Amino acid sequence: MRAVRWHGKKDVRVDNVPDPEIVNPRDAIIRVTSTAICGSDLHLYDGMIPSMQAGDILGHEFMGEVVALGKGVTNLRIGDRVVVPFTIACGQCFFCEKTLTSLCDNSNPADNQDIAEAMMGHSPSGLFGYSHMLGGYAGGQAELVRVPFADTGCFKVPAHLTDDQVLFLSDILPTGWMAAENAEIEKGDTVAVWGAGPVGQFAIRSAFLLGAERVIAIDHRPGRLALAAEAGAETIDFEDVDVMAALAETTGGNGPDRCIDAVGMEAHGLAIDNIQDRAKQAIGIGTDRPHVLRQAIVACRKGGTISMPGVYGGLLDNLPMGAFVNKGLTLKTGQTHVHRYMQPLLERIEAGDIKPDVIISHRLSLSEAPGAYDDFLNKQDEFTKVVMQP
Ligand SMILES: [Zn+2]
Ligand SMILES: [Zn+2]
Repeated sequence: MRAVRWHGKKDVRVDNVPDPEIVNPRDAIIRVTSTAICGSDLHLYDGMIPSMQAGDILGHEFMGEVVALGKGVTNLRIGDRVVVPFTIACGQCFFCEKTLTSLCDNSNPADNQDIAEAMMGHSPSGLFGYSHMLGGYAGGQAELVRVPFADTGCFKVPAHLTDDQVLFLSDILPTGWMAAENAEIEKGDTVAVWGAGPVGQFAIRSAFLLGAERVIAIDHRPGRLALAAEAGAETIDFEDVDVMAALAETTGGNGPDRCIDAVGMEAHGLAIDNIQDRAKQAIGIGTDRPHVLRQAIVACRKGGTISMPGVYGGLLDNLPMGAFVNKGLTLKTGQTHVHRYMQPLLERIEAGDIKPDVIISHRLSLSEAPGAYDDFLNKQDEFTKVVMQP
């Protein structure tokens, strides 16, 4: 089969590789009908995530048709059309029973858990196509993919909904929703969202559905800000105005009640702290650029909540913990517990509350992946979301 493989920093190729096979009784093989490139894939493309190996198959947002099943899977049939969560979860461990599926204890194989435990103390769940530290699983930017724990990991979708409408249940729609839920929004709140990429867009829409009165989107790409405005958000272009002053002014000096960091470890912009972080990265003594998190802590109103769906990878310098503590802020984070949100969000899609396909900017074939990665990284205003049909 053909698959999109990582060969090194900014080196992604479409290669012929052996078809995946059933390895365990709870596996399924899916023939992929649609797969997307995620903003978090750009951290891999940029060489920011440790424990990638040349030849790893990328992709964690995908859906398709079941073409083979292990003997242990009794709730699926060949031919079922399914969306697959990017977090791999056994469905049976302490964490899965609490629906904390991105923290599953059983989906990251032991050898890889050692790396994760050395870095983080404990291992989170395995992820598709996202480094050996997180399982080393082949991803879904391919014609076929093996889905472990398929009985909990394959979510059947109704025929009347198109791939475009349901594909993003695999990651970014639940991620945007959980970001808004984690922000602990109360009716009438003002919510600031840094980063108007796909996750930010869904966080904005989810924040309104969860009771926000005002949502303020912060980015520097006009197209993305325009998409945020279409959803009812006010916008701040950080290249034109001072974000901190603008947020203070528009909230009567109080600051936003809730702040969502949908940017993560690779902040853009020429703020002094961000330039310092870039310099540390360049000489190998820094991992992340947490400019947005610093800004959110200082901007947030006293007693407010910061929700952080953006991905961070390592050790973060110079966080204003004095402000964080003395303002009594709450910080909520985590990889998304995708399984928990698929059914309720499917119902939201069916009801027309959320239209996920508004963010799709490009539909390409799998063979166009190398160019698509480059364009998604370098022309982010134009390339909001790339969907590929293998
Ligand atoms: Zn993703
Ligand atoms: Zn589990």
